[in-house]
Amino acid sequence: MHEAGLLAQCPCGGEGQGIPPLVLFGIAAVGVWLVHGAWCAWRKDGVVRMSKVWKIAIVAALVAVVAIVIIDKQKGSSPGTDADKSAAQVSQPAAGLPRLVDLGSVSCIPCKMMAPILEELKKEYAGRLQVEFIDVMASPDAGTPYKISLIPTQVFFDASGKERFRHEGFFSKEDILAKWKELGVDLSAGAPAATGPTFSRMEPAKADDRPKDAICHLCDGDINPKTLVVVKSAKGDVRLCGPHCYFILYSCLTEDKTDFEKKVSVTDWGDGKAVPATEAAYLYGAEEKTGRPTIKAFAGREAAEKERQATGGNVLVWNVLQEKELAARCGFCDRAVYPQDAAAVKVEGASTWGCCSHCALGVAARTGKDIEVHERDRLTGEMIVVKTASGSVASLEPKAAVAWFGLRKTPDGKFVSAGCFHQGFFVNEDNLKKWVEQNPTESGKAITIAQALADKMKLSPQQIQKACKIGECAPK
Ligand SMILES: [Zn+2]
Ligand SMILES: [Zn+2]
Repeated sequence: MHEAGLLAQCPCGGEGQGIPPLVLFGIAAVGVWLVHGAWCAWRKDGVVRMSKVWKIAIVAALVAVVAIVIIDKQKGSSPGTDADKSAAQVSQPAAGLPRLVDLGSVSCIPCKMMAPILEELKKEYAGRLQVEFIDVMASPDAGTPYKISLIPTQVFFDASGKERFRHEGFFSKEDILAKWKELGVDLSAGAPAATGPTFSRMEPAKADDRPKDAICHLCDGDINPKTLVVVKSAKGDVRLCGPHCYFILYSCLTEDKTDFEKKVSVTDWGDGKAVPATEAAYLYGAEEKTGRPTIKAFAGREAAEKERQATGGNVLVWNVLQEKELAARCGFCDRAVYPQDAAAVKVEGASTWGCCSHCALGVAARTGKDIEVHERDRLTGEMIVVKTASGSVASLEPKAAVAWFGLRKTPDGKFVSAGCFHQGFFVNEDNLKKWVEQNPTESGKAITIAQALADKMKLSPQQIQKACKIGECAPK
């Protein structure tokens, strides 16, 4: 995926930011004047104080640096200069080490997000990888030879000093390490092998042989005939397992929603007959142990009232039901959620939800903030807590927790995300495997939670806007 969007956020040019020659000349002149002044003062007093000597030394060093920069600039602008060659000249690579150079600034947002990643790489791969940061705003000339057009840009050099790859925009730690691996550069020498989950099942163990009419269009769950919701569309009826899946679908429609509910019919809980959604009465209750809402539709208010006396709850009209259903939303994709089903996400003390574990991590990408995700293991319900910092995983509890990336094969053989209902976290890979065994129609692979976060962080704002809204949920 391309990071065009991230770059659009930070169109800070890397080129053409050099100090103009006139300014350089000015700095040099001031330097010379200072040295001259200091020299005169020394001669006049006839007394040499240490502080003055230091001042003179610093000024002299400054003048020398300016002179070198001017000479280097002249060299750099000479015709036929090869960018790679001069890049190799400017920095001094440690002997035989691959090198990662990040060109950025201390003020642009994706640049700032790169800083902790570079620090970690520096520490964790000390002696195996040279990591350099060049602040092109503070020292434009240091960046010139790299001929970058955007910041941040990361340039990958192999151990021989040859440029192998460059990337523009934010680049996660996982992606950086994966790129080195792809380039055939082994950073693992002397370090314990990274242990990531390896399990995958790309083809379902069992074909889904349920009749199509019995499967919810949205969640792929079984349709209970007593709660069926049907949406009329140009391409035929869209069948949903109940009002909640209807409202999820409604919340992620991109088309004009005016009068959309006129296309919707619900099922009378008592006699199983279709009722126009806006005319039905709804008994809205809650599951005793979880508080998760339950909804039963009735053609008439009396029948709803009778059921209410037996089971409790409130009888609601369509508009009020809709308001309740759309109240809690996914902080990443904006789908309607029940908090009981969702991952809890904290952003700077405020609370939101992730309609699935991956969407929960996506809140970090959508808000650009550090977040805390509380999500349950899909097999056992045990809690997994992820904290992020600058787009990376800062802490994970329990440490062995992994993510299931649900994938499905399209008719042309490509693998795409299987959607929010097919993702999840597990406290360890064993739980994940057991869950996959119990769900023979699922396909996908185990990934680290860090990778799941990295996948979200590299989405552009445009891609985030469209998340979960691309055809998948719209009536087909
Ligand atoms: Zn459903
Ligand atoms: Zn979502």
